[in-house]
This record gives sequence, C-alpha cells and structure tokens, in this order.
Amino acid sequence: MTRKELEKGIKFAIKQAYIAYQKDEIPVGCCLIIPKEDMTTNPTNKEYDYIYSHNTVEKKDNPFLHAEILTLLKAIKKYNIKYFLNSVLVVTLEPCPICYYAIRKLGIKEIYYLLENKDDGAISKEYGNDKKINTHYIFNEEYANLFEKFFDEFKQTKKISKKTKTRLKHKKESKNQANFY
Ligand SMILES: [Zn+2]
Repeated sequence: MTRKELEKGIKFAIKQAYIAYQKDEIPVGCCLIIPKEDMTTNPTNKEYDYIYSHNTVEKKDNPFLHAEILTLLKAIKKYNIKYFLNSVLVVTLEPCPICYYAIRKLGIKEIYYLLENKDDGAISKEYGNDKKINTHYIFNEEYANLFEKFFDEFKQTKKISKKTKTRLKHKKESKNQANFY
C-alpha cells in the first residue's frame, strides 16, 4: 500500500464520520483497505478495494455496533473469508478493546487512527500493546474539530433539554398554584 491508498482510506473514513454526525451518532468512521492478495474469493480488476462504515450505536440501541465491527462484518460478507492478512484498517477514533480484538481476529496487522481515545482506547489503555498489530496515530485536525463540535453540541442540547424540563416544571407548579386561588 502506498501513501495514495492510505489517503483515500482516510478520506472514506472521515466521510463516514460526517455521515454518523448527521445522524446524531458519535462521529466515527472506518475504512478497510483490501489489496488484491486478500481478494481471493471475489477478484476484481481493482488493485484495492475500500470497505467502509460508521457506528450505529444510537440508531440500533446496541453498544457493540462500532464503525470497525460493521466494516469488518461487511468485508467478511463480501469476500466470505475470515482473514484479511494484508489489509489495512483506518479508523477515525482510536479503537476500543472490543474492536481491537475483533481486528486482530481477522489477522489485520496494521491500524491507522486519527484521534486518540484516552478514555476507552485499546492502545491508550495498553490493551493494544500486544505487538500483534502495528498501530499508527496520525492526528487529523479536520476530524478532531468534527469530534469536538459533536460533543460541544451534545452538551448544549443536554443543557437546553434540562432548561426546558425546569421551565415545564415551573409552568406546571404555577398552574397548580393557580388552582388554589
Ligand atoms: Zn469499538
């Protein structure tokens, strides 16, 4: 894989993060870059195939539906194989331990991620320091801004809904009070 394929994979992953953002999901996107060597059961003329996804945790109310898991499941379905020994995974946010092990199970040896996840990241938490996968942290400002924007807005919405609730409560109380007169 050259720089060109990696950059294409990063673009796809970021695009998926934007789609997740538009759907009120935490913006995380993932792309698996599959070279010809791994396309044994579904050969095409293409040198590389790109399979991508974003998380659907909120929509499906399922905490396991991370972008990485969904991308891997898509790849397994398309190629009907269990191992992607030469493929490279790009994910916008550092993978959690569950995803890290799922990626490892498929024999993937290379992960690129664009933002650290200090709270839940496998590599930050040292779950991912088993040397089975080469992990590369390449900070991406555009994605970091999107991620920050999401949480700023999330906090804002929470504040607004809290305010609205309080206002409604007051309204109800004053209505009750009014009944005494
Ligand atoms: Zn995960």
